[in-house]
Amino acid sequence: MAVTNLASNQTNGLVCAHNHFYSALARGMPAPPRTPTEFNEILELVWWRLDMALDLDLIYHSAKLSALTALEAGCTAVIDHHESPNAIDGSLSIIADACAEVGVRVNCAYGITDRHGPQGAAAGLAENDRFLSAGGNGKVGLHAAFTCEPDTIAAAAEMGRKHGVGVHVHVAEGPADTWQMLTGHTDDDWLIIHGVHLPDDHGLSGTMVHNPRSNMNNGVGYARPTRFSNPIALGTDGIGADMLDEFRVAFVRAREVDVTTTPDVMWGWLETGYELFPEARNDVVTWNYDVMDPWRLAYTTAVAPQRVEVDGQVLLNNGVPTMVDAAEIKAKASEAATKLFAKLNEL
Ligand SMILES: [Zn+2]
Repeated sequence: MAVTNLASNQTNGLVCAHNHFYSALARGMPAPPRTPTEFNEILELVWWRLDMALDLDLIYHSAKLSALTALEAGCTAVIDHHESPNAIDGSLSIIADACAEVGVRVNCAYGITDRHGPQGAAAGLAENDRFLSAGGNGKVGLHAAFTCEPDTIAAAAEMGRKHGVGVHVHVAEGPADTWQMLTGHTDDDWLIIHGVHLPDDHGLSGTMVHNPRSNMNNGVGYARPTRFSNPIALGTDGIGADMLDEFRVAFVRAREVDVTTTPDVMWGWLETGYELFPEARNDVVTWNYDVMDPWRLAYTTAVAPQRVEVDGQVLLNNGVPTMVDAAEIKAKASEAATKLFAKLNEL
């Protein structure tokens, strides 16, 4: 039941509208074979090598560490986008199970792509269908239009409609990400991630998810989300799940181009998360800061949760997880990262 009777030092559980749990073990990874000089090279030399190295065990440990990271940041609901071309079947259930152990809500999608041929696309489509048919909470994932054939996009859109969940897709993140093939396929339940290089009148339906820190990190430009008529939500694109931090980055990024911007706008983007993940309204976070007000939070760093309740169950008390051993999760993730780095060195 939605909790609306909140004290000034409380919020509902925060929602991360776009994340990549599989990237949690990447920190400290071996340097790529050469330094990427633009966004497509970042994909090819970093992320498309990492996802090839993932197996189900690595996926489990990265998801569990990510769920813990979210909980410790007061984020109780995450919309994840997953890819592991050599371990597709069953991957979404592994992620959902890892999150359930920590107590964090998750919405899963497998990012279908034709980068590994039509069989790879079919396997991705099948994994989404399997997970959703079994009652999993998720959307149909598409990597991005520029790595998919038209038939693959049409099949994902049809499957999103069949399950009544829509599609979760990267759109116009870099200049080479041609998005026009999505025209005519989108619905209001789609998640349009990034939209940096979309024209104002792109005509795509769905919620636009802004990931300001990731966009800066990849040097792809500023999405200027206020120019769109779509609802706007905030995501981290794999860089943790500290939504107050992402809110602050979104605010200063907007101020940089328009100094009259007020933080209520970005607070509204956080609240759009509840349209996507209404269950997070049942969760209560008590913070170490007395007034959870957008103007104050825009200029207050290191605000952290003291207590997190999900559906009335206390999952974090005095900053310490109650269901899981945080030190053990981190130690096992560290072991898994060592294994991942060894595999990357062999690629
Ligand atoms: Zn992403």
